[in-house]
Amino acid sequence: ADVAMYVAKQARTGVHVYQPADDQDTPRRLALLTDLRSAVENGEVRVAYQPKVDPVTGRVTGAEALARWTRADGPVRPDEFIPLAERSGLITPLTEHILDTALSACAAWRRAGHEVPVAVNLSPQMLTGPTPVRDVVAQALRRNDVPAGFLTLEITEGGLIADPVNGVRVLHALRHLGVRLSIDDFGTGHSSLSRLTDLPVQELKIDKSFVQDITHDRGRRTVTVAAQQLGHALGLHVVAEGAETQEEFDALRDLGCDSIQGYHVSRPLAPDDFLRWLAEHSVR
Ligand code: C2E
Ligand code: CA
Ligand code: CA
Ligand code: CA
Repeated sequence: ADVAMYVAKQARTGVHVYQPADDQDTPRRLALLTDLRSAVENGEVRVAYQPKVDPVTGRVTGAEALARWTRADGPVRPDEFIPLAERSGLITPLTEHILDTALSACAAWRRAGHEVPVAVNLSPQMLTGPTPVRDVVAQALRRNDVPAGFLTLEITEGGLIADPVNGVRVLHALRHLGVRLSIDDFGTGHSSLSRLTDLPVQELKIDKSFVQDITHDRGRRTVTVAAQQLGHALGLHVVAEGAETQEEFDALRDLGCDSIQGYHVSRPLAPDDFLRWLAEHSVR
């Protein structure tokens, strides 16, 4: 019970006790990697979509594409298989697959009359990896005939630590394509205030570790307010992630967040369910 309480407390404070990514290559991990490789090759990784809404108008401002993978023995969490993909070179083909799937979904939403941009997570490794990510993105946009402005790329600032000069150069190249760029997980250890002003980004996402419990936790509320004010001072669209209750949703709206994403609005949905959700929630 002590351990459980400790872990719960650490999770609440955002300090991770157990980090799967730091584990050695255990037999489970090697078996996972083998299966993940064939899942990526066979296009078996699916995508769920979670809406972001304007809390004042109710309008849908976008949808985040989230990778989903089910193995024979059940679903594997992205927190487990994404780091595995990142360390094994699978992240590039996996991201290409997610980009293609998400952009073809976005094209379908538009055909159904929903002008909703889609957001894809870009792993830090891809910014400075051997494959030119700008070309990967440009080709996916062309293949799916989606205007660049309908794609947002969510990137953590951590990706700019290893090779900041090239990382920022790649961000500018992506921005020149016309895609929107979003700083993800803002407020976590991966972000630094200093560089934010230099980045060609349009959006800032406040991480759910700050958003959750803002109605009861003064410290987190303070961080959320500061992040929101900083984002607006820099002219960015501010998204709060992880609102689970009406109280949290209302508080974030009152703080002035431009978009809210979280279970209170909707869980991430399978493509068909998301299209139905869009039809039910379209504001005219
Ligand atoms: P993230 O980019 O911060 O994505 C948001 C995560 O918060 C998602 O978890 C989403 O399901 C979850 N979430 C949203 N609203 C709520 C809420 O109200 N309460 C709670 N408790 N959680 C909420 P998910 O789908 O498990 O993904 C975890 C992480 O895995 C993502 O965090 C992202 O870093 C990574 N990831 C997922 N899909 C991809 C992908 O296609 N490519 C890359 N590179 N990373 C991905
Ligand atoms: Ca994200
Ligand atoms: Ca996050
Ligand atoms: Ca993340």
